[in-house]
Amino acid sequence: MANIGYIQVVRHCNHFCGFCSNPTTPYTHDLESMRVLVDDLVDRGYFGVVMTGGEPTLHPELPEIVAYASERGLHVRMITNGWRLADRRFADELARAGLRLVHVSIYSVDADVEARLRGVEGSLERAFAALDNAAAAGVEVNINSVINRLNADHLDRNVRYFLKNHPQVRHFVWNNLDPSMGRAEVNQELFVPRLADFELSLHRALRLLHRAGRTFRVERVPLCYMTEFAWASTETRKIIKGEERVVHFLDDKQTVRQTAWGHIYGDGCEVCSLRPICGGLFDQGGAYDPDELHPVFIDHERVVAAVLGDASDPSFTGQTLDAWRESFAGRATPEPVPRERETMREALIPVGRITDRGRRLFAAKRRAEADKAARLGVAVERERERAADERDEQP
Ligand code: SF4
Repeated sequence: MANIGYIQVVRHCNHFCGFCSNPTTPYTHDLESMRVLVDDLVDRGYFGVVMTGGEPTLHPELPEIVAYASERGLHVRMITNGWRLADRRFADELARAGLRLVHVSIYSVDADVEARLRGVEGSLERAFAALDNAAAAGVEVNINSVINRLNADHLDRNVRYFLKNHPQVRHFVWNNLDPSMGRAEVNQELFVPRLADFELSLHRALRLLHRAGRTFRVERVPLCYMTEFAWASTETRKIIKGEERVVHFLDDKQTVRQTAWGHIYGDGCEVCSLRPICGGLFDQGGAYDPDELHPVFIDHERVVAAVLGDASDPSFTGQTLDAWRESFAGRATPEPVPRERETMREALIPVGRITDRGRRLFAAKRRAEADKAARLGVAVERERERAADERDEQP
């Protein structure tokens, strides 16, 4: 298995997406506190680490922590909005440090839509430059895209543009909007799509990519909305392979280990042939409608065989279908579990710390973001109770 862990290295950002699920907090990291988390992933036997945020390139010690994770044998990846990678020297520096793969996040190739979603002008050009700079520096480049109400009708147009203008991008990741946290939670009406809104354009996009020999993954989309490409569902692949995911959140959640991949199921799911390997509907904020789910009747083992036979997957083991049947029989069908029980919080390692300086920066950031939000017509995230305020007060 190729488990991948996530470390949120910062939680502030130079963009202001109205559906950000991980907005700013008073927690901060230094090199020492990040090293502990890298060591944790190594001790767990993980294959790789994704440096994420907030916007991870804003941490002044990012090259150092990338180098450390690389020296410790992890496959080092990063999710970024690409703004700082538009500087070729910075891309080279991260490549030298050991960055192997970068996911550049782009929602739309329509500059107006992208600016509206990101809350800043000029982000698209810089993200395009990031794609080229990272590739020129020898870093593998993927594109990450959050499916939302404003891009739902042109996911295929995005793909056509990338295939034509950025052929170095070989892998695409689509994430349906997570409506449960941060600003996404309070701006659901503005940004959460109906499943039917993106079904056709997602299908066209995946077909284009498949025909062009690109690989892709899709997260938080129920299988009945991507039946032909069910093998590309992140949840389904994890259910089939029994994989887990650790996220070191730089907030009160701290370390979360996710081992269950089932979300919400509708009435029709009972008779659906894909039910044993489907993550269902990712709905933790009441934003998506279970009535949009519909049963399908294709052999789920065809999907399993496609996943097990995918030699391009880093966790490819060559496992046979018979061996899988035997191991899967001992596992439970994914159940609709509430978020609190879907994840396992592990409080062994402190993730970051809250200092007076961190608190001051957080307060300043919140004031600046309230202005931005008012300009853009979006709401700011709810303030959380800070149970950790009493914990870990270090200068
Ligand atoms: S199990 Fe439910 S959500 Fe999954 S494909 Fe079937 S009907 Fe859709």
